[in-house]
Amino acid sequence: MTIQAVPEPATRTEHLLFLDRAAVRTCAAGIDPVAAVEDVLRAHAAGHTALPAEGYLPWANSQGAYCRSIAMLGSVGAADPTVPTAYGMKLINAATSNPAQGRERAGGVSFLFDPETARPAVVAEAAYLSALRTGAYTMSSLRHLGPERFQEVTLIGCGAQARTHAELLARYFPDVRTLHVHDLLPERASAFASWVEGSELPFTVVPHGRAAEAAAASTVVITLTITDTGYLSPDHLRPGTFVAHVSLDDLLPEVFDRAQALYVDDVELVRDNPRRVLGRLLGEGRVLAPGTPKPGTSTIRGTLGDVLTAAVPAERPGTGVVVSNPFGMAVLDVGLLARVYARAAADGHGTRLDLLGADR
Ligand code: NAD
Repeated sequence: MTIQAVPEPATRTEHLLFLDRAAVRTCAAGIDPVAAVEDVLRAHAAGHTALPAEGYLPWANSQGAYCRSIAMLGSVGAADPTVPTAYGMKLINAATSNPAQGRERAGGVSFLFDPETARPAVVAEAAYLSALRTGAYTMSSLRHLGPERFQEVTLIGCGAQARTHAELLARYFPDVRTLHVHDLLPERASAFASWVEGSELPFTVVPHGRAAEAAAASTVVITLTITDTGYLSPDHLRPGTFVAHVSLDDLLPEVFDRAQALYVDDVELVRDNPRRVLGRLLGEGRVLAPGTPKPGTSTIRGTLGDVLTAAVPAERPGTGVVVSNPFGMAVLDVGLLARVYARAAADGHGTRLDLLGADR
């Protein structure tokens, strides 16, 4: 009888690397976030990602303000040599009462898991990464679906995402000189303008008192509000405009009805969320999924990943309006964090945490 050797117990340590926002920001400065996002979008279009349904927990706090926690798991790259394999999760929470108390509305942590042991191996501040991947998606959509030339951009909503979008616009679209901005709270638009002025960003900021006025001021409109009530109609948008509908509930249904072309990040994700206007229109059959065209009914052309893999043609705005409606995919956070982590590991950033402590 042969006796199987019992493996030595692995050293009883349970380490993970903690990356705070400053470390994430430093590492992210050393990568190309748009290239990282585009690699993941191509992998997603090729079916080389996994995106389980997200967990969603809403509640009201003691002030009656809306709070929510969203847990978004994702993996990217298994069987795809073009992107690093990564498994992970973004946990992003928000309370609408936070900004009034001087806190960012949304915050959380993102994880990477060890592919072998499945243990969480990296935990990183999530809000900056989330804004970076969202902004990088907008930059990619603008690059492929936006007007050929533009020097002015409209940002509606002047919170955290607006700042990251401004930083990325300066980096990826150096011709842009003017930002037209609007916020429901004029003091937030003023704070944004002061922030730009105190930074090295090359923009003149023009605040507008009304959203419609701001939207009509340029041919690139990026919605970054937290509204759940549409307010932009086709009449507010100039012919030849590209809209990045990042906050997902700003456009009235007529904009989708009359769009020259409509792109999403993932058809199922959008369709499965009737809380948002495009999901609702898909459910009602007022907007159709790709491949089911019907004359006179707006049909989604495809995903940005389809455009990047040339499975679907890119259509820039001509005399109409092109809309990009990204629901937001955890695989982008996970893929971007994998790149950030690679830099952190190479350059020695982050703090090692020991989960077992004295219990080792
Ligand atoms: P934030 O709270 O920091 O800023 C939102 C700003 O919008 C605030 O200044 C607020 O006063 C303003 N605002 C609210 N309603 C408005 C209205 N009707 N008109 C004009 N301004 C209005 O939020 P943030 O972190 O910058 O996020 C912005 C949005 O982006 C959120 O809706 C968030 O869910 C969304 N988001 C989308 C994706 C995606 O992939 N689609 C990813 C991340 C975040």
